[in-house]
Amino acid sequence: MRTYIIPVLFMLMNNITMRAQDIYKKFFLDNSVVAHRGAWKTKGIPQNSIESLREAIRMGCAGTEFDVHMTADSAFVLCHDNSYSGKTIEKHTYAELAETKLPNGEAVPTLEKALMEGMKQTDTRLFLEIKPSSTTERTVLSAEKIVQTVSEMGAQPWVFYISFDYDAIKRVKQLVSSSVVAYLGGNILPGQLKKDRITGLDYNHSVFKKDSSVIKDARELGLSLNVWTVNSDEDMDLFLRHDVDYITTDEPELLLSKKK
Ligand code: MG
Repeated sequence: MRTYIIPVLFMLMNNITMRAQDIYKKFFLDNSVVAHRGAWKTKGIPQNSIESLREAIRMGCAGTEFDVHMTADSAFVLCHDNSYSGKTIEKHTYAELAETKLPNGEAVPTLEKALMEGMKQTDTRLFLEIKPSSTTERTVLSAEKIVQTVSEMGAQPWVFYISFDYDAIKRVKQLVSSSVVAYLGGNILPGQLKKDRITGLDYNHSVFKKDSSVIKDARELGLSLNVWTVNSDEDMDLFLRHDVDYITTDEPELLLSKKK
């Protein structure tokens, strides 16, 4: 009897989340601009900080991206590299990492803090990158705990999951079937992504430039298209012409100015 309870609970959770995502869909901006690690460059704000997340929201980006690693004590921090201030994140506790502040005086942000900040508004989505750990098992465990945190905080409508780790995003989709999950690696064709129930491609611009049929195939299969990291004027124009869903950039001001 008990074995049926968990799947039934998951089904109910998924249905509720799906409805919530439909309700929230109309609130988010549709300008295709995703600030890469937040909006940091112009004002010299630290990447992956709460301030850079706020700045992306203030500017009116449709999305802001951040990188998430799991610490030794299963906390989650925003950081691009797998080490912070010379400490390997997965080998140190959050308290040890928080001994060093970001250059703007912030403590290294936790995932909870970033989600809380994002949930204060409904213009800008949160592109949450699940960073790989030293083993696939730990990366998948990290994905499971991230999904749990997002669900518990009711942040699901804000979050799009992205990762270079294929197992991690497949696991996210398995846990919450309504999740939006995109693969970053660039080496899997749209047909296979569709088979694996991945909802989108988030590939480096070179992949699409090399073979633009990937864009056409993805579209035909109803997959979302995001391209990274597009910083030049020329490349922005190219991908705006391709009308991809999202363009991830370190230069959100420039891209936003083209969309007006
Ligand atoms: Mg990233």
